[in-house]
Amino acid sequence: MGIIHELTPQGGTYQDTFVGLLAEESLPRKRVPQGSSDPREVRKLVSNELLLDGNAGQNLATFCTTYDDEDVRYLMDLAINKNMIDKDEYPQSAEIENRCVHMLADLWHAPHAGATIGCSTEGSSEACMLAGLALKWQWRKGRLAQGKSTDRPNLVCGPVQICWDKFARYFDVELRQVPLTGDGLGMGPEDLAKYCDENTICVVATLGVTFTGIYEPVRELAAALDDLQGRTGLDIPIHVDAASGGFIAPFLQPDLEWDFRVPRVKSINASGHKYGLAPLGVAWVVWRDTSDLPEELIFRVDYLGGDMPTFALNFSRPAGQIISQYYLLLRHGRDGYREIHEACAKSAHYIADQLPRVGPFELLYDGQGALPAVCYRINDDSVPFTLYDLSDHLRMRGWQVPSYPLPANRQDTIIQRILIRHGMSRDMTGLFVADLEAGVKTLTGGPRPSRPGFHHN
Ligand SMILES: *Cc1c(COP(=O)(O)O)cnc(C)c1O
Repeated sequence: MGIIHELTPQGGTYQDTFVGLLAEESLPRKRVPQGSSDPREVRKLVSNELLLDGNAGQNLATFCTTYDDEDVRYLMDLAINKNMIDKDEYPQSAEIENRCVHMLADLWHAPHAGATIGCSTEGSSEACMLAGLALKWQWRKGRLAQGKSTDRPNLVCGPVQICWDKFARYFDVELRQVPLTGDGLGMGPEDLAKYCDENTICVVATLGVTFTGIYEPVRELAAALDDLQGRTGLDIPIHVDAASGGFIAPFLQPDLEWDFRVPRVKSINASGHKYGLAPLGVAWVVWRDTSDLPEELIFRVDYLGGDMPTFALNFSRPAGQIISQYYLLLRHGRDGYREIHEACAKSAHYIADQLPRVGPFELLYDGQGALPAVCYRINDDSVPFTLYDLSDHLRMRGWQVPSYPLPANRQDTIIQRILIRHGMSRDMTGLFVADLEAGVKTLTGGPRPSRPGFHHN
């Protein structure tokens, strides 16, 4: 008979992923199966399960890249078997990493950008650990030289990302967090000196505070430390955690002095996989000068007869993200990065404009002057829903928007934060605002608004 008959053998072993043997039982969860299986079937079933993950393109909660182009995929594929740590086996990947370091040192105005030192890392968390360790070592050297104790190092910061809590605990450093006061969303210069003393290894300023997207005022913080030095002789360095802002400020706020233009800034980290636009798995840390990274922390690897310094917590690491970062810096150039981030900032401004119209919202950050982000709270106690309810509602349409309390001492303020990144079109932004408005209407018990595309005749 026909071909369908031939493909359907008698005996009921019809060949289809969702009818076949593998699909009739649950996939193994706790034990590696004894036998092998058809790779395409397994692939289909595994990718099927991933449908339950959120849709990365609608994830307005993450700082990380969710957009990629064909060329990045091509380079990632090309590099899939290259190990970043094997500098002698993959010398061109190592060379490309170095080029990125010097390009970023230049972008961040290092005085000798072509000669300074830095490296790629798995993410900003690792970059912050390395920067923190360098500062701890430098502080200890200074203390030992003066014959003073080195057992109680501390680090002063505002509302930092969790990686600094980790750094403090893993490497035995006291974390002194300056609490938020009044309407403040970050650490300011006012009280800074009160938290610093002879055991302060550094002040960490954040460019793009995780909670709100604002920048801490690096130049003003440095001035407060200059003043402290004038009064007490204490010379406290600054590290800038520019995980997100390091790839925004040079393009959107080029005149803002947050980087090595401020002499007190000794090191900077930024996540390539955030606004650097690279795929997940790369960040950067750059020191102002080679002398700011203590020699004892550098491991020297023989490199084709030359000398390749390495400083890292990881050993093996993929090279593709670094190669993609280089591609992206070349492909977009400064103008391209500026235009991409300007488009994101425009969308953030649009949302900020619409928020007071669509609901009882008060803006805490309107997307102007720092990251392409918006952050707001409910400004009316009589509203019959919380931001957590609104997050749930947005999730029904696939949008991921987090709600959470501000850090100490403003834990009573619950906020919602939206990050706009490359890949969020103007149309998608409009659809998001429509969904936000619909969510507010439903939660306040109003009539359910009809969505574009749904026509009830
Ligand atoms: C995201 C972030 C980090 C951690 O960066 P990863 O690249 O995710 O490891 C550290 N600090 C700040 C300010 C961040 O925004």
